[in-house]
Amino acid sequence: MNTKILLDEADIPTHWYNVVADMPNPPAPPLGPDGKPVGPDALAAIFPDALIEQEVSAERWIPIPDEVRQALALWRPSPLYRAHRLEQALGTPAKIFYKNESVSPAGSHKPNTAVPQAWYNREAGIRRLSTETGAGQWGCALSLAGQMFGLDVRVYMVKVSYEQKPYRRTMMQTWGAEVFASPTDMTESGRKVLAEHPESPGSLGIAISEAAEEAAGRDDTNYALGSVLNHVLLHQTIIGQEARKQLEKVGEYPDEVHAPCGGGSNFGGVAFPFFADKAAGREVRLLAVEPSSCPTLTKGRYAYDFGDAIGLTPLLKMFTLGHDFVPPGIHAGGLRYHGDSPLVSQLHQEGLVDAVAIPQLETFEAGLLFARTEGIIPAPESTHAIASTIRSAQACKESGEAKTILFNLSGHGHFDMAAYEHYLAGDLHNYDLPKEAIEEALSHLPKVG
Ligand SMILES: *Cc1c(COP(=O)(O)O)cnc(C)c1O
Repeated sequence: MNTKILLDEADIPTHWYNVVADMPNPPAPPLGPDGKPVGPDALAAIFPDALIEQEVSAERWIPIPDEVRQALALWRPSPLYRAHRLEQALGTPAKIFYKNESVSPAGSHKPNTAVPQAWYNREAGIRRLSTETGAGQWGCALSLAGQMFGLDVRVYMVKVSYEQKPYRRTMMQTWGAEVFASPTDMTESGRKVLAEHPESPGSLGIAISEAAEEAAGRDDTNYALGSVLNHVLLHQTIIGQEARKQLEKVGEYPDEVHAPCGGGSNFGGVAFPFFADKAAGREVRLLAVEPSSCPTLTKGRYAYDFGDAIGLTPLLKMFTLGHDFVPPGIHAGGLRYHGDSPLVSQLHQEGLVDAVAIPQLETFEAGLLFARTEGIIPAPESTHAIASTIRSAQACKESGEAKTILFNLSGHGHFDMAAYEHYLAGDLHNYDLPKEAIEEALSHLPKVG
C-alpha cells in the first residue's frame, strides 16, 4: 500500500461540517454576567456578523467561500500517511494512519481557521486584528492570513514564550505582524496583572484579555481566537472530511481517531466528520489526548467559566481547571489552556467523546520514536496523540487485533527544539497536577444563577 494518500485540489471540501446538527442536545448557551444567555449582538463589538452567525448556527453544512478555498489550496488537501515504519518498529498488527497538518506555511493546522477568519473580517470592512498567542503557532497563522488579505495584525504573546521562542516572534514579524510580550502596560487588563504580579510570566487567559480589550475599544479592530469557539472548530472540519475521503480511497475506516487536545480545535476538526457517522449508528472511538499537567477533560469540572483570566468574556459551559489556572512551569508540551471547547466538552460529558491524559515523558518518548521512524519531528502537542496511538497499537499487538487507527499530526516541532533539547538532556520530568491545586483553582469558578 502507498505511503501517502493524496487528493486533488478539487477535493478540498466545499462546505464546513457543523457538528451541532448531529448532537443529541443543543449546545449550552454562553451566559452574561447576570447569568442569562447572551445574544449574538454581545459579540458584535469584536467579531464580524458572518462569524457570529457560524458561532450560533445549527445548519449541518456551511459553504466555504471560493476565495477562502483558493487560499487554502496553497497547502491543501494535506496528505494522509500510512505510518508503515512506525508500525514495523512497534511490531503491531494495527494499521496506523496520520493526517499531516504540518505542511501549512505556519507548520500547523491553525491556518485552516486563520484564513477564513481574516477573509470574513476583511469582507466586513475591518482593517486590523488583535489576538493572543501562547506557543506562537496561532500568532503565526493569523499573521500569515492577515498578510494574505491585507489586514494589520497585533499579537499579544505570552511572556515566557516570547522569551523562549524568539524565532516564532520573528516569523510573525516576517509576515508583517506586531508582537508584544503579555502582560503589557498597553491595556487595562495587562496593567492590572502587572500591578499584582510584576514578574508575571503571562498566560493564555491574560493575553486573551488584552487582545479582546483592544478589539472592543477600537472600531477598526476585531479580535480573532485560534481555538475553543464553535466557528473555529467548524473551520477545522476540513481535516476530518479530507481524511475520511482519503481512507475511503484505500478502503479503510478508522476504529479510533486520536488527536491532541488543548482548546479542542484540531481534535474537533479531525473527529467531528466521523462523529456524523457515529451519530448515524457507526462505531468509531473519538479520543482527545491531553497532558497530565493540564488535565482539563479528565480532571477538570464541567461548569460555566470565563474564557479569559480577567473575566471579560461571556461564561462558557466547558470542562475547566478554573480561569485563573496557570500551568506549572515544568510543562514543555503545550496544550496549556485552562478550559476546552464547549462542543467537545458537552460531547465528552455525554459520553460520546473519550479523553485520556498522558504524562510528559511518555509524550516526548513517542515524539522521538516517530521522528526516528517516520522522519517528521512532531510538535510537542502532536506527540500526545502519537503516544496514545502507540498505546492502542501496543494493545493490538497483545490482543492480535488489527485495528485501523487515525491520528492527527497537528504540526511539526521545528520551532520547539528547546523542548526536545530539555528532554534529551534529561531535564524534563513527569508532573501530575495535584488534586489540591485543582481544587484551589476550581474554588474561583464564577457563581452562576
Ligand atoms: C495550537 C495547537 C494545538 C492545540 O490546540 P487545539 O485547539 O486543541 O487544536 C495542537 N497542536 C498544534 C501543533 C498546535 O499548534
